[in-house]
Amino acid sequence: MGLMDGKVALIFGVANKNSIAWGITQRFHEEGATVLLSYAGQVLEKRVKPLAEEIGSDFVMEADVTKDEDLDAVFAAVKEKYGRLDVLVHCVAFARREDMGGRFVDISRDGFALALDISAYSLIAMAKRAEPLMSEGGSIMSLTYYAAEKVMPKYHAMAVAKAALETITRYLAADLGPQGIRVNTISAGPIKTLAAAGVPGFRLMLKFSEKTAPMRALVSQEEVGDTAVYLASDLSAKVTGETIHIDAGYHILGMTISDEELGLLND
Ligand code: NAD
Repeated sequence: MGLMDGKVALIFGVANKNSIAWGITQRFHEEGATVLLSYAGQVLEKRVKPLAEEIGSDFVMEADVTKDEDLDAVFAAVKEKYGRLDVLVHCVAFARREDMGGRFVDISRDGFALALDISAYSLIAMAKRAEPLMSEGGSIMSLTYYAAEKVMPKYHAMAVAKAALETITRYLAADLGPQGIRVNTISAGPIKTLAAAGVPGFRLMLKFSEKTAPMRALVSQEEVGDTAVYLASDLSAKVTGETIHIDAGYHILGMTISDEELGLLND
């Protein structure tokens, strides 16, 4: 018996084996869900199709989340093939490199709009199309980052996009709650992925997080997948509008300090 037996889940954002979306896909599959995948562009097709085969999924559709017609096509195909949707996972983000790094005041108007469109508005666009397919209730989730709450170096446009995503999560939860649709977001600690490679100084961030987080550990894609299973399954039946941190406790700290520096405090 799996925790997601009989559930149909649509996941946006698998780019390769390192994607957080792939960690979630694998865990959903292990728990008995039927997993449908949507990926960003043709260049990814040769990576994503073999991954879909690994989990026995024949639903793999390309969609650029900035295009309404692409999203319409994906949700229409879900309706035609399955007639319903139980779980929707948004693992999509993008900001131009020049809008992550440099100075915050230098973010361009169009770079800002692009980051917000791809990384935040797209959740609204997906939820709108998922709602009619979730007539028996459902679970919608996305991936966010702590830079939405506190200033993190270099996140800039993406930090603002994540703040929007977290607010969108709460408003969608209120809007869709009466229909039994829950909406939550997972705030994951830093993980080495394609998107993360675009963040200036990311390797240093990984090191620093591992050294200073209360649990002195990094987070894996599969561990994010475990929480996604909780949010997708009936285990979280009355949980909605939440930002759930999976970051080995990093977000509780008022001062981040390494063990060596902690020793110095006793001097
Ligand atoms: P990833 O590169 O594997 O995934 C990002 C995905 O966004 C890719 O599949 C990419 O194709 C997709 N995407 C970008 N523009 C798109 C568009 N226009 N249309 C459709 N898809 C588009 O990296 P990831 O780290 O697994 O990112 C997944 C999510 O997790 C993102 O929201 C990211 O911000 C979030 N997140 C990542 C970390 C981390 O440290 N890696 C931490 C917290 C949150």
